[in-house]
Amino acid sequence: MKYRNLGNSGLKISELSFGSWVTFVNQLKEKEAMECMSYAYERGVNFFDNAEAYASGESEVLMGNIFNKLRWDRDTYIVSSKVFWGGELPTQRGLSKKHIHDACNAALKRLRVDYLDLFFCHRPDPETPIGETVYAMNDLMLQGKILYWGTSEWSSKEIKEAFKYAEKFNLRGPSMEQPQYNLLFRDRFEKEYKNIFKKYKIGSTIWSPLASGLLTGKYNEGVPNKSRFKVKGYEWLSDTMDEIDFNKIKKINNLAKKIGIKSSQLAIIWCLKNINVSSVILGASKLSQLKENLNSLKSYDLITDEIMNEINKY
Ligand code: NDP
Repeated sequence: MKYRNLGNSGLKISELSFGSWVTFVNQLKEKEAMECMSYAYERGVNFFDNAEAYASGESEVLMGNIFNKLRWDRDTYIVSSKVFWGGELPTQRGLSKKHIHDACNAALKRLRVDYLDLFFCHRPDPETPIGETVYAMNDLMLQGKILYWGTSEWSSKEIKEAFKYAEKFNLRGPSMEQPQYNLLFRDRFEKEYKNIFKKYKIGSTIWSPLASGLLTGKYNEGVPNKSRFKVKGYEWLSDTMDEIDFNKIKKINNLAKKIGIKSSQLAIIWCLKNINVSSVILGASKLSQLKENLNSLKSYDLITDEIMNEINKY
């Protein structure tokens, strides 16, 4: 495992990390989730991603129980939470100072930790002034409850506004963004954020490197049984299939075969080749998937510039 600085911070984050969206609670119960976390940690993964919204807080409870059982030293791993969707009541959602404060304290309890390394605004909140959010995050940093704060799926305009406010009041702007980035969804990361990475040198922990599994090729002939798109409550993901370019996926699948690796591995390495990526967050509903995905690192050098150029033509 290699480690990258999270943007211009001194934090060394593993190139591959492990997240819990959809999988924890719904597909992985404590025993399997613990096996996955242990396997990842033993192979150098140091970042575990979570959010107040995942399984309505139960994903954090599960991860917290696992931290408690595994007893890793707190200075050996990075854990995140995200604030935005905490509950149905008006005070339980969004990015007001109140909800940020409450969400952080609740996540600390659920995850059974004294501080969060990374705390993300899960989405932008048009109903809260950005300055209030910047101020609330800085307050949590001063209280020692979070170390770095970041955004997730904010527009470059919103990120710029956060920095403008932070600079004016001598506060910290976001240290990282958490956007979707993969072979099927690349425009925002590569085009819209280009100047943000250049100007503010923020890091990125990117999500859905396999586009929820689509890039493995297993959806090429329709939704397979026992896949994410069949998980109760996530059927809506199938609606996104109309916009997917399955020809492109098939070309990627063939290319991976030609190189002698799995499509999942090609897709993951492709993300890592972008220097603005600090960490690729992996998802897995089975230990065997996690093994395959972590093994992608062994193929890093097989993905040459020539192959990267070839992919750009698809
Ligand atoms: P991926 O795109 O890699 O999708 C993971 C899913 O794909 C798995 O759960 C599994 O689903 C399938 N899969 C993974 N590996 C394989 C394999 N080798 N062979 C076949 N199928 C495979 O990542 P996620 O969408 O899970 O995102 C990763 C993390 O990013 C999340 O856990 C979360 O922490 C974060 N995230 C953040 C978001 C944000 O808004 N900030 C949004 C979404 C995710 P199955 O077996 O069920 O088909």
